[in-house]
Amino acid sequence: MKINWPTKMYIDGNWVASAGGKTLPLVNPATGEKLTEVTLADARDVDAAVTAARKAFDDGPWPRMEPLERGRYLWKMAEGVRKRFDEMSITDTLNMGKPIRDTKGWDTPVSIQLLESYAGLADKIAGKCWGSFAESVQMQLRDPVGVVASIAPWNYPLTNAVIKIAPALACGNCLVFKPSELAPLTALMLGEIAEEIGLPPGVLNIINGFGHDAGATLVAHPGVNKVSFTGRLQTGVAIMKAAADGIKSVTLELGGKTPNVIFPDAPMENVVNDALTSIFVNMGQVCVAASRLIVHESVHDELVERLVAKAGTLRIGDPMDERNHLGCVAVASHLQTIEQYVAKAKAEKARLCIGGKRPDDPALARGTFYLPTIFDQVTPNMTISREEVFGPVLAVLKFRTDEEAVRLANDNEFGLMACLWTSDAIRAMQVVRQLRAGKVAVNGGGAFRPSTPMCGRKHSGIGADLGFDEAIHEYTAGKSVLWSVSREKSPWPE
Ligand code: NAD
Repeated sequence: MKINWPTKMYIDGNWVASAGGKTLPLVNPATGEKLTEVTLADARDVDAAVTAARKAFDDGPWPRMEPLERGRYLWKMAEGVRKRFDEMSITDTLNMGKPIRDTKGWDTPVSIQLLESYAGLADKIAGKCWGSFAESVQMQLRDPVGVVASIAPWNYPLTNAVIKIAPALACGNCLVFKPSELAPLTALMLGEIAEEIGLPPGVLNIINGFGHDAGATLVAHPGVNKVSFTGRLQTGVAIMKAAADGIKSVTLELGGKTPNVIFPDAPMENVVNDALTSIFVNMGQVCVAASRLIVHESVHDELVERLVAKAGTLRIGDPMDERNHLGCVAVASHLQTIEQYVAKAKAEKARLCIGGKRPDDPALARGTFYLPTIFDQVTPNMTISREEVFGPVLAVLKFRTDEEAVRLANDNEFGLMACLWTSDAIRAMQVVRQLRAGKVAVNGGGAFRPSTPMCGRKHSGIGADLGFDEAIHEYTAGKSVLWSVSREKSPWPE
């Protein structure tokens, strides 16, 4: 299939090249071949995009429109993605090496669901009213926040874009969205869909550019009211500092180091399958990747043996081949980071059970492929147990008591998600209550739902992406209205 990718930026309803004329080649990580070349924003382009969003918000129809009408635009956007299902799935597969079975089976359908789901939010944004005071009625209205700067990472290019765009638009805001410079194509295609469905100019602007340049300028721009960011912890820290100058509200969705706690009464066949997909899907480049398997000592040896046996059967290869479970890492520099983590795990004396290297197959030599890797005998102080690898690397730790399991699970700076497996319902809820994570999956219940908020604890973030109440909280601002119903006013005391 020949796809004509948009390579310019979508600003104020027009497709524009960057003011400085700079471009960036995009490479298929599975082959090293160039896909296309996209324009790169500098400060002038960022200013044009924010100005367009500002104008659309301050003077345009979007925030004033009947909310149901706003919702219809989101629904039409979902239809637009559905019409381009294959093109968008193939684009993300080619751009970041994610297997086509995942982009077709997950990324694109979930993105459609998200747009449909948040289309229905637009007319359900309600304030509050306290009517029981004798002399006044007190209300709180919810206004859109204004111009939102949204910045996303590369690991789920289309889905990350929709997660940022749909709730913010449903709430009546105007946006400047910056995808990752490494995988901007499906976000730019969303710009094409916005144009096709007649979204008013300036409501959604999509710019491409480097984080340290276009991203940082966008966050600091005085025309921006709110910053919504998903990405690495270190970037989140920089963004929070930059946003402080303008007293901008921030939503931060950052890294994770999800513990997956396996109690001895867990159904082992299900655990094996779930533990493998939870760490190896998308080559572990998932914020909630269950990268720490914390296993009761009585089932440890059997479980590790079964995991290693099954990991060895996973098919790795051409991401465009529907049969392959695993594609490649999204970018060569990130593959090096993964290799450094593996080298460190070996040096710190974790036991390598499988993987730990690139595949031997010469057909894969040009791509950024890496074998699914499992380390056993990991202790809590090892780097591989503490830091987010963001790669296909599982660390196995052992526990004896429920208290120790909870302590190990919580012993990390991140708190994005946690998983646990047990047949004992009381134990499950007792553990859920003690886990310091924004999301807990019990017995494999971690399937993504548009309505469920992502809200990290500890260094995993501030605020939430998704969730209807959460979206209203994040993307609207309260306005208290204090309305007197008394004709008599008390005089100034003598
Ligand atoms: P990153 O922080 O390097 O980049 C993310 C985005 O921020 C990119 O668009 C980049 O251009 C931009 N950026 C970089 N520096 C910037 C700056 N100074 N100012 C403004 N923008 C800047 O992250 P990444 O490597 O693209 O993504 C991987 C990370 O994302 C992992 O840590 C992963 O856990 C996290 N992530 C979190 C979630 C979640 O929901 N919590 C979801 C997906 C990914």
